[in-house]
Amino acid sequence: MDRPTIFALSSGRPPAAVAVVRICGPQAGRALQALIGRVPPPRRAVLARVRDPADGEIIDEALALWFPGPNSETGEDMAEVQVHGGPAVITALLGALRDIEGCRMAEPGEFTRRAFLNGRLDLTEAEGLADLIAAETPAQRRQAFRQLKGLIGDQAETWRGQIVEALALIEARIDFSDEADVPEDLLGPAMHGAQQLRDAIAAALADRGRGERLRDGLVVAIAGPPNAGKSTLLNRLARREAAIVSPYPGTTRDVIEVHLDLAGYPVTLLDTAGIRSSDDPVEQEGIRRATARAALADLVLWVIDSQATEHAASIVHESETKTICWLIRNKVDLGGDKLWKNSESRFAAYNNEFALSAATGSGIEALIGALSNYAAEYFAATESVLVTRARHRGALEETVAALDRALAQRASGSEELIAEDLRAAATTLGRLAGRVDVEDILDVIFRDFCIGK
Ligand code: GDP
Repeated sequence: MDRPTIFALSSGRPPAAVAVVRICGPQAGRALQALIGRVPPPRRAVLARVRDPADGEIIDEALALWFPGPNSETGEDMAEVQVHGGPAVITALLGALRDIEGCRMAEPGEFTRRAFLNGRLDLTEAEGLADLIAAETPAQRRQAFRQLKGLIGDQAETWRGQIVEALALIEARIDFSDEADVPEDLLGPAMHGAQQLRDAIAAALADRGRGERLRDGLVVAIAGPPNAGKSTLLNRLARREAAIVSPYPGTTRDVIEVHLDLAGYPVTLLDTAGIRSSDDPVEQEGIRRATARAALADLVLWVIDSQATEHAASIVHESETKTICWLIRNKVDLGGDKLWKNSESRFAAYNNEFALSAATGSGIEALIGALSNYAAEYFAATESVLVTRARHRGALEETVAALDRALAQRASGSEELIAEDLRAAATTLGRLAGRVDVEDILDVIFRDFCIGK
């Protein structure tokens, strides 16, 4: 049975100057024939009138392209129609396509999924493509592009090949152990190879999670007592009205997230609800979420009102976490820094501190500079980082565990048991690139895509 032919709007939200509709599958050529009356020469843009096949009415004038399989992006016949990006034009074109037999709207990520199923890219490359589309900063873009070009996929394949080699040596011993011309010591070289491989993968895993962090952004939580100026600071840093600033305490009820590009690196700023006790259940929930997220942050900016003295006692206590914490003495525009002068010794627990005015912006550049340096240092040498997702980390950790088991089996002298663990190691690595039993993870990966990709 033929696969259904799928189509979707692949360009952004209308209205726009141009809209790109892609069609993929066995009926793609017939769809072009129905819409523009011909199939253009492969990979050449042609100007054509698009008509509704039902009544022959002209929908628009378009550029049409034809990419016959198997050398197309998905490996199947593909067509692309570029029309003017108005909602009515797009609706008419998608409606006309829907009426063509064997054609239906694509689901999110379905084009890429077909490319994967047709062997045009492996699973890590598909993930790299998703990340490239989602990339917000230059560093994220570069990491995604490296992955799209097979950085981790090729490495995993090389490692898998090495495991298979070690496995072959051991299986040769098992199969031909009775025959005189098989060298006695095949086990030595096999185990040596397994050890080296184990160390190489473990080294790749010892990256402090920077690849995953680069994908998601370094998390900086803005926390502190109510009314200290956290929302004002967030707005100042984001240079837009992302958080509601109010003169009344406790108005920030939920966690507000702002994505920043600092020196090319992604930083996610969290404005946590004024952390304080409250009887209001809605507020309590906000506080609970805020506390939970702040606890997972890479860096906490602990904001205090430099004009108030009553919070001073609780500061060090509340920030006693393992997270790096910077003290922000806010509202210095209102006068001298009373708190600072009165209680210098209380601030020993902070890794850094700043005196600024979130309202006027004075002193903010020093904070932004320090944050940028922090991000740049944190992400230093991410060029060589392989692991960008928990899925990769899980697969590589399982591989190391299986190799460790194989190495430990040497003492038992059982070649069958060693071979079994090596086979398990090869399987987990194969899963990384999507070569073995992947059905269960496909849905998880491809649902993150937008429709039309
Ligand atoms: P949050 O509860 O910590 O989020 O505090 P907000 O950002 O809502 O600020 C509380 C109040 O302090 C608001 O009235 C702000 O306008 C004011 N405020 C915040 N930062 C400053 C500052 O640097 N200087 C002055 N004068 N007022 C500020």
